[in-house]
Order: sequence, then structure tokens, then C-alpha cells
Amino acid sequence: MNKLSFEARDGVAVLKLDNPPVNSLGHELREALVAGLERANADPAIQAIVLIGSGAGFSGGADIREFGTPKAAAYPDLRTVITEIEGSIKPVIAAIGGVCMGGGLELALACHYRVGAPGARIALPEVKLGLLPGAGGTQRLPRLLGVEPALNMIASGATIASEKLRDTPLFDAFADGDLLESALRFARRASAEGLEHKRVRDLKLDVPNAEAFFQFARNTVKAVAGPYPAPLACVEAVAAAVEKPFDLGLKQERELFTTLMLSPESAALRHVFQAERAASHILDVPDDTPVRPIAKVGVIGAGTMGGGITMSLINAGLPVVLLETKQDALDRGLANIRRNYQGALRKGTLNEASLAQRLALITPTLDYALLRDVDLCIEAVFESMEVKRQVFQTLDEVVRQGAILASNTSALNLDVIGLHFFSPANVMRLLEVVRGAKTAKDVLATAMRLSKTMGKIAVVSGVCDGFIGNRMLARYGAAAHDLIMTGALPQQVDAALQEFGMAMGPFRVGDLAGLDIGWALRKRRAAEFPGRDFSNVADDLCEAGRFGQKTGAGWYRYEAGSRHPIPDPKVTAIIEEYRRQKGITPRKVGSEEIVERCIYALVNEGARILEDGIAQRSSDIDLVYLNGYGFPAYRGGPMFFADQTGLHQVVRALKSIAAQPGSDVGAWTPAPLLARLAQQGQTFSGFKGTA
Ligand code: NAD
Repeated sequence: MNKLSFEARDGVAVLKLDNPPVNSLGHELREALVAGLERANADPAIQAIVLIGSGAGFSGGADIREFGTPKAAAYPDLRTVITEIEGSIKPVIAAIGGVCMGGGLELALACHYRVGAPGARIALPEVKLGLLPGAGGTQRLPRLLGVEPALNMIASGATIASEKLRDTPLFDAFADGDLLESALRFARRASAEGLEHKRVRDLKLDVPNAEAFFQFARNTVKAVAGPYPAPLACVEAVAAAVEKPFDLGLKQERELFTTLMLSPESAALRHVFQAERAASHILDVPDDTPVRPIAKVGVIGAGTMGGGITMSLINAGLPVVLLETKQDALDRGLANIRRNYQGALRKGTLNEASLAQRLALITPTLDYALLRDVDLCIEAVFESMEVKRQVFQTLDEVVRQGAILASNTSALNLDVIGLHFFSPANVMRLLEVVRGAKTAKDVLATAMRLSKTMGKIAVVSGVCDGFIGNRMLARYGAAAHDLIMTGALPQQVDAALQEFGMAMGPFRVGDLAGLDIGWALRKRRAAEFPGRDFSNVADDLCEAGRFGQKTGAGWYRYEAGSRHPIPDPKVTAIIEEYRRQKGITPRKVGSEEIVERCIYALVNEGARILEDGIAQRSSDIDLVYLNGYGFPAYRGGPMFFADQTGLHQVVRALKSIAAQPGSDVGAWTPAPLLARLAQQGQTFSGFKGTA
């Protein structure tokens, strides 16, 4: 397919990028661009050249699928195309509408003139992939916008509306009507008036007090960049634009780019980027499967989850019928929803008028009859099979034929599609779409579409205890508890895992969620399976009235009104007593051992989940952990982390833990898939399923 069209329009060559969906600058398009330029320059009838994009806009930048493949560097690479444009004998005019990002913007910056259009979205978002613009963006943008605005764009990756840049030297003209016509007019004028080629590289960049400015920028950026090296590298690249001649600045930009490209942080962020795109494809459901229209949704239960789910839906503009059994529960639910919006009102991200509009989308009711015309019903009532069964029985009677019934259950197998939201549902991006034995393909496709409408990341999970996330969490929690038994204290385990990058250690999470839930569950299990030991030191904390933050004490203690965890000698005493009762002699446990046990417990269970076909691909498991459980993005998720570490190393560590006296051998023995991949020198990423 031809990725570029060439049309001569009254002495102007129009080179139209045609590589849907966003005209990414893949190898074929780059070749076509160079050929188009050569043709235009060789044709005596052509006086000027206009570059314009078809479809979504100018260009979304590099083709990320080429990263790390020979195609990325294959002649002509982006920098070569840029050199060709800048050196073109005839003036090149970029006509910028729609998306103009990354390499796309770098291409435009190399043109001699730029004509903008309203509504274009301008960005250098490379930093979000742990990179910096590596084709001159850090050298050219400051020459047009000034150092500070350019650095802000480069180090944040933020998207700026073209209207905001309309009066800057980035644009030589701004289209009022048709972009191409405006660009053609500009091109004809440029050639008629013999305008000189304006090369951005030739612009002078004078910055008074540059040294002080960059020192300030380094300090500021360092403070917010955390473990990510890219933002600081952006500062260095822009500093080079000021301090060095253009070509040496370019060279430094290149060196910084190459270093970042090889960094584990960038590899992880690029993995996450691709994982998010892969997750929406379901292996046996074609992408063009027709979806059922969802114009109105019923939510059953206005508790913690029902309220958050309702907010996610109305935020996306979907009307919701919110049903409860009692008026006071309904009132409470609505009051909670209103209260949850207060933060957004205070921050100014939402105003009273749009809040009123959103709330008006909710029809609160106690009457099932109002659910007659909904297209989807999401159940979020108490976690009880009996209650849920009754709800679905009633729903079956009232909702119309073809409406989708879904449950937010965390554990029950209900034979309807599961839409497992995470708390707080209006905030958390993760949605596990649980595929039952009888879930129709179009229902799955509809759920995936709905998730996109709500701005969530959906991951398909098969049915099993805990689905993907909580099934792994159970192993992680058990590993953390084992460490306490072995000799560690909660604060030590939390500190080690937070140092690794987890948003919060498991014991802090326990205090936040409430320890009484697990306590009640273990009591139920113990009654169900007499003779089995479900005991946990948390039971003793609960016996002492320590349910977590809500009682001011759990694994930690809390000052009134504060969420700051304070290690508590009383907890140490409870733990020591518990160990004594179990006949355990504690030993010293190091941070490395803590991280290894907890993270490899996740990996081992992830391998089982993958082998069982519960998850479609290892990157889906990563997304679950990144978006639902606070796993650090710069490590790419547990499965990617294991791949990077080397699976043989993971296997060796697991085997050594399994061999220790008192270990749960079944849990710590490497999963068969993990053992096999390690032996073959393979990775989880390369695993394409057992079928
Ligand atoms: P909750 O107790 O806060 O809310 C349940 C609500 O359902 C209550 O308001 C109750 O009045 C209402 N209700 C009970 N029976 C009803 C009926 N027959 N008809 C209509 N409404 C009824 O509970 P929650 O935390 O929101 O959990 C709800 C579901 O979501 C459970 O299945 C739970 O496992 C699941 N879930 C919870 C979380 C979480 O973190 N809390 C996360 C994911 C999934």
C-alpha cells in the first residue's frame, strides 16, 4: 500500500501522509517521504512542497512497533528524513491539523514553514515512554517557543492545543478555513515573494542566566521525576540546545536518547504502552465483532462499589438507574456519590453546573420496573450467593430480552459476565472482565467497548477463585505473612516492598482495607473445612479490636485523624506471642529476601494463571497488577519484571525457598510453565498460550 500520495497543485507538490490510524512514521512512509521530496525537487514545474496528513491529522510520530527492531534504524531513519526536508531546495511547508506529536512534530519542526489549524494537538510525549525526542525536537522547539515553554512541554510530555500556540513563532500562519487551501496559499506566496528558507536550526537561542535557569530546572524536575531518568535527560538535552552549536546539541540529544532507550525504565514503560493496546484484543473474538448498544445502565446496590460504578458511568455520560432495597440505603448511597465529587469541585476540575448535569443522569429507585429498558445491569449487592441469586432471578423477569446482566462479584461464580471493578471504582482504572463458560462473544466485545467509554483498562479473565488479581494477591499476602512468621515485622516488610516501588506495602494496605473482612472470611472457611488451619496473626489483632485505620489501630497505630502508620510495640508483642505459640524460632530477614519472596510469589501464581488460560497473555497480568495493586510502572509489572530478571533466576530462588524447612512446598515449587520457559531460555512475553 502506498503510504504517501503525491499531487501537483498549480506548482505546489502536496505530499499527503496516508498511514492510518495516525500516520505513524514507519519505514515505508519514511521511504515514501524521501522519494516524494526527491520527485518534487527534481520537477521544474514545482516551486514549493506542502506536507499534510490524511485522517487523524499530521502525524502521531514514530511507529512504536518498530522500536528495538532493525526497521527503526533502516534507511531512511527519521533523522535522515528530517535532514532531507531541512535541506530541500524548494521550501517545505507543514500543514498541521489534528494530531501532531513526537516524531510528527519533529518532522514539522524541520520544515521551513508551518501552517496551523484550530484543534490540532501538539506534543512531544516521548518522556511518557521513558525517552526524549530523539530527532531534533529538544534542539528545535526551544528555538521557536523559548527555552522554558519548550522544556515544560518536553519534560512533561503534555499535549497543547494549537490555538494556545497560534501566536508563537511555531506557526507562520494559521488556517481560518480549509487547512490545505491555507497551506497552498502560503506556499504560493512563499515562492512568489521568494521568501528565504527559514531553517529553525539557524535561529539564535539567547537565554540570559541560562546556568541559573537550568540549575533550577534540574532541581524541580528531579523532585518530581522519582525513579525515572528521562525527565532529567530532557533538561540536559535542552541545556545543550542553549550551550552548544546546533550540531553538537543534536549529538548530545542522540547520546541521551540512546542511553534512555537502553534503560530498564523505558523498556518497562514501552511494555506497558503496548500491553494496554494488546489487552483490548480477545484472542477468539474478532475485533470487528458487532457490539450491543449501551444507552442506559442499571446498577443494583448503592454501596461502596455500586456508588463508584455509577460515578464511572455518569462521568462517561451514561444514564444510570440506581436500585436499592431500602430508601435509607439509597439516600446514603446518593449522599456518598455527591460527597465523592466534592474533591473535584474543590480542585476546580469540575464545576457545579456539570456536576448537576452528571447527577441528573441518575434515576434512584426501589422499583425493579424502572429497569425494563436498560441495556446492561451491573449487580453490586452484598457478597452473598443467596442475595445475588435472588437479584438475578428478579432481573431475569424484568429486563428486556437482549439486555446484558453482569456482576461485580469478587469471588462467586454466577454464570453471567463479570465486571470486576476495583475500589474506589470511580478512580481505579482497572476492570477485570470475567468471561464465564457461556458468555457470548458479542457480550464480551460490548464489555470491552464500555470499559473504553469509561476510560478504564479492561483485562479479560477466566473464572477461578479471585480471578487474576485477587488470586495472585492471596499468594502475595501469604508470602508476607510467612515473612512475619519467619522473623520480620510489618513495617520492615512494607518498607522493603515500598523501596522496590510498590505504592504501599501489604500491611498498610491491610489496615486501609480493614482486617475484619479477612478475619470473618477465615472464620467461615474454618467452619466449612474443619481440621484445616486458616489461622493468621491478624486474627489476634482483630481479637484485640485492631481492625485497621477505621479503629485507629491495626498492623500499625494511627493518631486521631491521621492516616500515617506508626509502628506499634503492641503489635510486635502480639506477633512474638503468636510465633511462640506456633513454636517458631524467629531469624533475621533481609530486604532482599522480602522482595524476592513477595514478588516471586506473584510471578509463580501468574505463571499458573497463564498456563490455566485464565489470562490471555502475560502482559494482561502485568496490567492487572499495575492498575489494580500499585505495582510500579517503571518495573513493567510482575511478569515483565520476571522476564527482565531472567526466569532461570526466578526458578532458582523459588526452589531454594521451597526447600527451606517449614515452607509450603506446593506454593513455592515453580509452576510447570515457569520451569519449562526457564529451561528453554524463554520469557513470559514470548509465550503464546498452551493451545
Ligand atoms: P456494600 O456493602 O458497600 O454495598 C452493598 C449494597 O447493596 C448496600 O448498599 C446494600 O443496601 C445493597 N443491597 C443489598 N441487597 C440488595 C438487593 N437485594 N437489592 C439491591 N441492593 C441491595 O458492598 P460493596 O463493597 O459495594 O460490595 C458489593 C459487591 O462488590 C460485592 O459482591 C463485593 O464482593 C464486590 N466487590 C467489592 C470490592 C470492594 O473493594 N469493596 C471490590 C470489588 C468487588
